[in-house]
Amino acid sequence: MKLKLGLIAATLLAVSNTGLAEEKVLNLYSARHYQTDEALYNNFTQQTGIKINRIEGKEDELLERIKNEGANSPADIFLTVDAARLAKAHELNLFAPLASKTLESRIPAHLRTEDWFSFSTRARVIVYNKTQVKAEDVQNYADLANPKLKGKFCSRSGSHPYNLSLMASIIAHQGEAKAEELARGMVANFARAPKGGDTDQIKAVATGECGVTISNTYYVARLLRSTKPEEQKLMEKIAVVWPDQAGNGVHINVSGGGMLKYAPHKEAAAKFLEYLASDQAQRYFADGNNEWPAVEQVKVSNPALESLGKFKADKLPVKNLAMYQAKAQMIFDRAGFK
Ligand code: FE
Repeated sequence: MKLKLGLIAATLLAVSNTGLAEEKVLNLYSARHYQTDEALYNNFTQQTGIKINRIEGKEDELLERIKNEGANSPADIFLTVDAARLAKAHELNLFAPLASKTLESRIPAHLRTEDWFSFSTRARVIVYNKTQVKAEDVQNYADLANPKLKGKFCSRSGSHPYNLSLMASIIAHQGEAKAEELARGMVANFARAPKGGDTDQIKAVATGECGVTISNTYYVARLLRSTKPEEQKLMEKIAVVWPDQAGNGVHINVSGGGMLKYAPHKEAAAKFLEYLASDQAQRYFADGNNEWPAVEQVKVSNPALESLGKFKADKLPVKNLAMYQAKAQMIFDRAGFK
């Protein structure tokens, strides 16, 4: 009896502390779908008692869904990849600002905004065929416009967020004229019209269909960790360059998320975002996709990534990446980078 009363008292206390009984649920719209995510979410539920309802989908579809649901959206959190998409959610006014001492102290300033936060980082590197291209010819992004590489450059679409964010960083550092020069030079060097994803480009470089491409590091790491003999063989043909090491450093993109403006469970949402910045969650979040934790003091052991060596990362604020997205698209369009 005593125990029961104690339980009731504890429950009442919990309810009055959080204000709302529905605080025990969190609706998560996520474009992430990695195996380690199960553990990531289960740990949160264990620590807080908050159950997570997860809706997974393609990045742009989820964004569209939140927009269409408007004020009736049950979504509390939107998690996705790429600064461009996070910036789009911000521009559509979908996020709610969140002032959190935990997030401010854990996530470096250049990796957060007032309403969305990066939880992992990836770099956009140059990948080249060792027999077709010399390392010294592909040390910088600008080298990809060098006529020396005519007929050798392959890429995914210029409209893809990864390329838009890279171009946005070049506009931010070097201005629009230089960025357009690069885009035009890349187009002039195409081995084929843009198609496929980063993995397809790496494979095309390995087979010799192309000489050089750009790729996010986790695609490289994924192939390096492949257990398929044919993929292991392909990876022997390529090498990876950290671009712009004498300049601004390799372009960094992020995956992250934020609390939504119409979130029905704002307190739980804030707790969840803070949880994602914890040591353990950071490891799951980043390593599940061969990325790096956004929280600097958290270290992961990822031999595939480590085999690529040390590098200088561009510290451009993710906010600035967001700012130049539209300009980046205009430049790609003008250059004919489809
Ligand atoms: Fe990707």
